[in-house]
Amino acid sequence: MTHKCSVCGTVSEFDYKPGGKLPPNFPFCSARCKAIDLGKWLNGEYRISTPLPNADLMADEEKEVLAQLLLDAGEVDEVTDDDE
Ligand SMILES: [Zn+2]
Repeated sequence: MTHKCSVCGTVSEFDYKPGGKLPPNFPFCSARCKAIDLGKWLNGEYRISTPLPNADLMADEEKEVLAQLLLDAGEVDEVTDDDE
């Protein structure tokens, strides 16, 4: 079984048996790539922030509908009104 490291693209090969152990750094090729990926998460690089389009021009009701749509789509973690 081969797996491509999502950080550096290195393809690594390993024997996988059902119920067996995965490589310690899976799905990364090395501890280094694992750390890089973790760093990206911590830096917020992977966080998807979708600003509400023309939020100022929208009625509160419309904002709520759009916010709910985004929440349903899983594109935002939460929407708050008090971010001034
Ligand atoms: Zn890698």
